Amino acid sequence: MSISLIQGTEKNTFSAGPRALILQIQNISDRKRTEQQLIYEAFHDPLTGLPNRAWFLEQLGIALSRASRRENILYPGNRFAVLFLDLDRFKVINDSLGHMYGDQLLQAIARRLRQCLRTEDLVARLGGDEFTVLLTNITSESDAEAVAARIQKQISQPFKLGEFDAFTTVSIGIALSDQGYSKSEDLLRDADTAMYQAKLEGKARHVIFDQGMHTRAVDTLHIETDLRRAIERKEFCLHYQPIVSLDAGELTGFEALARWLHPERGMISPAEFIPIAEETGLIVPLGQWVLNEACLQMRKWKSLYRGASDLSISVNLSGKQFAQANLIEQIIYSLNHWVLDPRNLKLEITESVLVENIETATNMLARLRSLGLEVSIDDFGTGYSSLSYLHRLPIDTLKIDRSFVSHMGGNDEDQEIVRTIILLAQNLGKKVIAEGVETREQVEKLRSLGCLVGQGFYFSRPVDSEAAGRLILNQGRWQSSVLSAREDVFEPLASMRAM
Ligand code: C2E
Ligand code: MG
Ligand code: MG
Repeated sequence: MSISLIQGTEKNTFSAGPRALILQIQNISDRKRTEQQLIYEAFHDPLTGLPNRAWFLEQLGIALSRASRRENILYPGNRFAVLFLDLDRFKVINDSLGHMYGDQLLQAIARRLRQCLRTEDLVARLGGDEFTVLLTNITSESDAEAVAARIQKQISQPFKLGEFDAFTTVSIGIALSDQGYSKSEDLLRDADTAMYQAKLEGKARHVIFDQGMHTRAVDTLHIETDLRRAIERKEFCLHYQPIVSLDAGELTGFEALARWLHPERGMISPAEFIPIAEETGLIVPLGQWVLNEACLQMRKWKSLYRGASDLSISVNLSGKQFAQANLIEQIIYSLNHWVLDPRNLKLEITESVLVENIETATNMLARLRSLGLEVSIDDFGTGYSSLSYLHRLPIDTLKIDRSFVSHMGGNDEDQEIVRTIILLAQNLGKKVIAEGVETREQVEKLRSLGCLVGQGFYFSRPVDSEAAGRLILNQGRWQSSVLSAREDVFEPLASMRAM
């Protein structure tokens, strides 16, 4: 209820004073309720009922100013931490089970988070599958880590969604208040950066922010800006790494590997720029360029060297490219434009891309195969391929990841993994290629295990198109050309031939 007093005044200025008094009594409890409802909605997430980003930032601001006041009067025990949480498998669950179950999962996560925190801690949903926690009054970073570990344990328990048991893990970034912050946005940003680092380190873990991460994040931002320009300015080129038969030492083809010639920083490795290109979507135009350039190069070699007609060029496809509706059209265009046989082009896709959406992947693979193209699973052994569907995937080759090959000498376990992958490929009727072959011992071991094709520094590092052309030209004469000029490239092949 509100009471207002309206005082009427005389138009005639000579006789001042009130002439009329209106007393208005109005029941405004409905309006107040609506107002409160609006305020609630402005600061809460409707799906989970948790506070939202705006409320979280507000509370963070209050905590920061309280902490700085207490610091002034030498009251150190007022540290707090921000935890930034991102679910590791939400997209998979949402895409496979549907949005209704996705929503149920988010609600269940919110309940579990509330349960495993103290009442004075604040948990909020920022949006999507991102949650934040404000942990007040902690004494050391290990307190924050203990809470993060507790959250991880809780979230990793199965969630009952209808008749399904869904599993997920969470990556958590932690930022501590006593790093000289003055703005709540900065604290949140750093917790987010640490979360990103946790993802990079393999997900399902927590990482505490340090300043080095911020520097790296800024570097990434610069790379991203430069990358956009690099595509327009055509700063990319391809290098080619020979793929060699381990029994006869013959060249079977090349893998095309992207290189970025940065005007100031020099040659930048794809390990640095491909993940950023993936994340920003720039991989789509870049990948299209790589595909076309590789086909153009193959056309040049075929026109120049007779020995090139049976060679193949392998192109790496990223997840985003693989999901593109017009990928098939792009491939057909490049093959036709450069008058190539589909046998001359191979595609490499990592396990994780295939696993993410197995139905779509199987369809796409079948369409690629119907064109006559071979497809390899790249970095095999590092992803999560399940044996149950591996045999159903229309792929031709498993490429054993370098990490297993490189440790094969010393470590029985790695040798067993290599042996198992080779056996698996044989049983499934797939070909197998060893990546990262660096020594003669590895060549011998691989051959004895039944792997007949490999690539690696032992044969040659990735080289530019001219050097690759010389390799094609010298094919079959490697041993006798003794390898005078380019010992680094040719010598190992010679010694292998002499085995
Ligand atoms: P990848 O497809 O597994 O390529 C093999 C990588 O292993 C190459 O690294 C190659 O230089 C390296 N390598 C080959 N043999 C050896 C060896 O004996 N020892 C060692 N230590 N390394 C060896 P690179 O060129 O730095 O490429 C890294 C990754 O970047 C590639 O791994 C691939 O996943 C990605 N990439 C490169 N070019 C492209 C591209 O055009 N598109 C996409 N989507 N990804 C690309
Ligand atoms: Mg590859
Ligand atoms: Mg690989």
